Amino acid sequence: MRFKDIVGQQNLKNRLIQTVNEGRISHAQLFVGKSGFGSLPLAIAYAQFIACENKVDNDSCGTCSSCIKFNKLAHPDLHFSFPVSTTESVKSKPVSDNFIREWRELNLEKPYFDLEEWHRAIGIGQKQSLINVTESQEIIKKLNLKAFESEFKFLLIWKAELLNPQASNKLLKLIEEPVGKTIIILVAEDEEALLKTITSRTQMIRVPPIEVNELASYLIEKEKIDSAKAQQIAALSDGDLLVAEEKLHLSEDAEMYFQLFVTWMRACYEANIEKMHAWVEQVSDRKFGREKQKQFLEYALEVMREGMIRNYAGGSLQRFDGPEGNFLKKFAPFVHENNIFGIMEILNDAHFHVSRNAYAKILFMDMSMKFANLLRVKKRTFVS
Ligand SMILES: [Zn+2]
Repeated sequence: MRFKDIVGQQNLKNRLIQTVNEGRISHAQLFVGKSGFGSLPLAIAYAQFIACENKVDNDSCGTCSSCIKFNKLAHPDLHFSFPVSTTESVKSKPVSDNFIREWRELNLEKPYFDLEEWHRAIGIGQKQSLINVTESQEIIKKLNLKAFESEFKFLLIWKAELLNPQASNKLLKLIEEPVGKTIIILVAEDEEALLKTITSRTQMIRVPPIEVNELASYLIEKEKIDSAKAQQIAALSDGDLLVAEEKLHLSEDAEMYFQLFVTWMRACYEANIEKMHAWVEQVSDRKFGREKQKQFLEYALEVMREGMIRNYAGGSLQRFDGPEGNFLKKFAPFVHENNIFGIMEILNDAHFHVSRNAYAKILFMDMSMKFANLLRVKKRTFVS
């Protein structure tokens, strides 16, 4: 991980580089900031920069023998500690080394991730994870070794707030007086959750939110979206890259649901069996999945409700805009008092059955047939 791979954070990078250039590297540091601000990749890039044998202007070189090992997170003087838990294969006293392969894989594939994603990577789901006292003993053992290749040994403790109290206490002495040339970097999101005895012994580096423009540029380049959309998402993400990516994926899903809904309603209204069939194939594809099917049905319910409101209360309550709004304007007259209850019931039932593992193809085809009838029901004309 090189500084150039970090999104934004130029001021902080400059400060870190300066401490190295001036030989003022503190032996125990605490990087505090959300995962989506880049606190972990920054800490890794910082260590790589310190260890680089051929520093270029403001970055590590990426090609010296130290950098090559750092690029794979496999430098013998680079140690990691992170929260773990027991799993199928590690039945007791889990330590970071049991999961080092998963750790490297996740970091190399996706340098920005949070605890939830880490839990998924090691397959522990909702279980809690910790940095326990056995891990502290391992750390002490490792740091008592001499540095193998680099001038310094590095220990990066990720999610240091998950050090349990015994583990923290065991590490105190090490943090206060590290053996040999050791640099300990704790990475945490929540400094309040750390023991005061730890925070008082470390130099705190605050990792701020990523600048909006930098986050937008990242989205344009990495996610290939247009600049207006990138700016809009970046502005709503509080400088957090993980929040921005989540927002982007949600908006992509919303766009897909909209297109799917339009195609569906057209096929049903035309009572076109061939088109219905093609649509059913698409929505019951295994790649689409049960979760998305449920989300799509929730979306369909919302559009129907919105159509109904629009139909009776006019456009003033409309929450949809852009292409969705235009579609709704034309679609609303088809949703009215004579069919809305039937429509809602069918969608709600389908939602229930999808959760209960119903066979999607039959379910969606059946719904399509019912909608073909319901959409043709005439709105009642009032005769006095
Ligand atoms: Zn290098």
